[in-house]
Amino acid sequence: MRRYVYDFASGNKDMKDLLGGKGANLAEMTNLGLPVPPGFTITTEACRAYITSGSEPPELRDQLVTHLKALEERMGRRLGQPDDPLLLSVRSGAKFSMPGMMDTILNIGLNDASVTALAARAGERFAWDCYRRLIQMFGTTVLGVDGRLFEAALDEAKRGKGVAGDLDLDAGDLWALTTTFKGLIAEHAGRPMPQDPFEQLTLAVGAVFDSWTGERARIYRRQEHIPDDLGTAVNVMAMVFGNVGMDSGTGVAFTRDPGTGQAGVYGDYLPDAQGEDVVAGIRDTVPLQELENLDPRAYRELLRIMRVLEQHYRDLCDIEFTIERGKLWMLQTRVGKRTAAAAFRIATQLVDEGLINADEALRRVSGAQLMQLMFPRFDRTTAEPIARGVSASPGAAVGRAVFDSRTAVERARAGEKVILVRRETNPDDLAGMIAAEGVLTSHGGKTSHAAVVARGMGRACVCGASALEVDTDRKRFTTADGTVVHEGDLISIDGSGGQVHLGAVPVVPSPVVRYFDGEAAEPGDELVAAVARTMKHADAVRRLGVRANADTAQDAERARRFGAEGIGLCRTEHMFLGDRRRLIEDLILAETPEGRREALDALLPLQRQDFIEILRAMDGLPVTIRLLDPPLHEFLPDLTDLAVQVALDKERGEPDEDRARLLQAVRRLHEENPMLGLRGVRLGLVIPDLFAMQVRAIGEAVAARRAQGGDPRAQIMVPLVADAAELRVIVARARRILAEVAPETGARARCPIGTMIELPRAALTAGRIAEEADFFSFGTNDLTQTTWGLSRDDAESSFFAAYLDKGVFPVSPFESVDRDGVGRLIELAALEGRTARPGLELGVCGEHGGDPDSVRWFHTAGLDYVSCSPFRVPVARLEAGRAAV
Ligand code: ADP
Ligand code: MG
Ligand code: MG
Repeated sequence: MRRYVYDFASGNKDMKDLLGGKGANLAEMTNLGLPVPPGFTITTEACRAYITSGSEPPELRDQLVTHLKALEERMGRRLGQPDDPLLLSVRSGAKFSMPGMMDTILNIGLNDASVTALAARAGERFAWDCYRRLIQMFGTTVLGVDGRLFEAALDEAKRGKGVAGDLDLDAGDLWALTTTFKGLIAEHAGRPMPQDPFEQLTLAVGAVFDSWTGERARIYRRQEHIPDDLGTAVNVMAMVFGNVGMDSGTGVAFTRDPGTGQAGVYGDYLPDAQGEDVVAGIRDTVPLQELENLDPRAYRELLRIMRVLEQHYRDLCDIEFTIERGKLWMLQTRVGKRTAAAAFRIATQLVDEGLINADEALRRVSGAQLMQLMFPRFDRTTAEPIARGVSASPGAAVGRAVFDSRTAVERARAGEKVILVRRETNPDDLAGMIAAEGVLTSHGGKTSHAAVVARGMGRACVCGASALEVDTDRKRFTTADGTVVHEGDLISIDGSGGQVHLGAVPVVPSPVVRYFDGEAAEPGDELVAAVARTMKHADAVRRLGVRANADTAQDAERARRFGAEGIGLCRTEHMFLGDRRRLIEDLILAETPEGRREALDALLPLQRQDFIEILRAMDGLPVTIRLLDPPLHEFLPDLTDLAVQVALDKERGEPDEDRARLLQAVRRLHEENPMLGLRGVRLGLVIPDLFAMQVRAIGEAVAARRAQGGDPRAQIMVPLVADAAELRVIVARARRILAEVAPETGARARCPIGTMIELPRAALTAGRIAEEADFFSFGTNDLTQTTWGLSRDDAESSFFAAYLDKGVFPVSPFESVDRDGVGRLIELAALEGRTARPGLELGVCGEHGGDPDSVRWFHTAGLDYVSCSPFRVPVARLEAGRAAV
């Protein structure tokens, strides 16, 4: 028989697949001897069975009854027992944390009878508060009644009494509310609030299963790339109460600051409160340190447990706890989400504390996090903020203020940058938070929904800017001094410092980029020190080389400072723009060999000088120069424009002969599908002089650098080869030219000549191509286009969104290399290429060379190096290191 239910004592932290993260960690804490209220976990497998068949698996009910019995025996009370009820919480908990995305129901077991018994035992106000919470949560999450109806009734009760806070409602008010709430359920759910405790329990379990497939959970999973078929576990546990008076309360804590990584005590505490009051940001919490004054014993116990957890998990933990009449209970822990800066700092701190080694520290950070640290910051020295709040999630964000999720999504879709401004956020704001550059709230602290979700997504967030009066109905907010900001006004938020500014604040490079650029770190900048240490270890362990894509000496210098070990792609077409366009035009239009010669002679010294400078910047390191790749028409005026001009000339009776000739040439070169047309190696075969000029320029540049005492390492790369024969012709000619250059300049210019592999046919015939090539460089941009048969420029604006939405691509194949298709071609070409020519050098020069996931895969595929834009070089170094440990 399948086992669908596990007591907390029979699980452990490694059973997340089956028990979900929350369940596995509750089990772990139980077995560590920490004070966890007893309970059990219904497995994700039960959820999957429920989702596929639409009803609970038949064995589940029996097992649920058995485990409930055991729990009742242990507690000495029965679920909902009329004279002394055992109450339960029913909590969702998937393998990956999805904060606030799924449902939890507290106080299961209360009904009209047991609530009076609870009142007699534990206090009138407390009992009715628990009951109204149960009816509210049950009504919304299980019975599907609109939550706003309950909130309106609660607000009404407070208004009727002329009070502001929930705590100002007394037992009588809460009793009246339960009646109102039950009325709302009867009216809107078409059935009364169930009074049978076991029915409450089973309905709640079903509702948690259902919440897995709910809209907001699905949006969240897509955003976070969490598979849809995992299902959630359900944790059923005895309730403990933080709402029995001022000697009780509930809180959230981190073992280190999840924002900066600083060691210390971080968290929020709310006296006399239950459950989600803290996270929801509806009441203002006090800093956790306050607990030391409120209840020193519980505080010390909490700190002790936090140390136990950190030592045990060897990582930052976040914690939910409740204090019931001075007794501390642990309700949840997990390895906590953190900002990019905190990730680097905590990893190195833990190495220093002897909890993890340097390899493990490398695994704990990611290229994506490093990228975040490289984003520009606000220039702090400029504007005065219009408000300050909690620095909840770092980053500088500039955008137009919007006040609801829908507008955020619409404006972002139209290409605008927006900042979502709310009093507080809830899971319904998720789509807007994804669409926005940043999130600003006037309520809630570091653990509010806005803060937790924004940190998880890497969005900038300032929360709890309490001086702001946010009026979402009128789509505006007002600052303390009366400034009114309307929808569409530009604002800037600094999630690292917590400031809110009017207008667009200028940005400056991040300290991490300044460090990579060679500036000394400011003393005491622990973040830069942590990044530096981590990078050093990554460089020490990585096998994969990292080069840069650079076309100018300036880019090459910067790339080198960023740690590039050469240039993997130097695009020569960029050298034919600007003033030089004219020369290329002359070349294309030349009608006689002499005319062409002249144009080429003019281009040669310019190209040579370009190469000399780049080779100087990368002295001693390989520089892979790609011969001209794009179709020639890219250097000529647009066909339609030109045709119109020529027609106008004619009409005016003043025909321009040059222009007419240009039009003819453009017509001649026009292709319906230029990207599949006369370009790359095909140009080299059809207009041999052009490649010849480029090869000569390279050879002469090498010779010149040698003469200057340099160590030039040029490599010549031929694009768009589909067949070995194409390459053979080009290589033979190039070798002849290089040999000519040698006696002319008195230096030997021996350069490796290789090819790009960017057509499926090249990959499939790589063995034969390797006989002609000294190296391969996978052009994964074109290889992806040609393998999928789609044009990136067109597809990304038309059907990509639908493909991503329907899950055809989990992620765009242009962002992360498509292992199943493109990846297999790469593996095949690598294998056959190296078989034909042992030691063949293999690199990647597509956009993927700087994508963290792809870099790790290229390591596994056994390539020698990746090449990416200079700015991505540190990211690739880090990921290459992570791949190697
Ligand atoms: P989420 O995953 O959204 O944080 P949880 O399942 O953790 O949801 O529960 C929501 C809130 O209810 C948390 O603040 C938690 O501490 C509280 N809670 C859950 N179970 C109990 C319990 N047995 N006793 C008291 N409070 C509980
Ligand atoms: Mg929780
Ligand atoms: Mg290409």
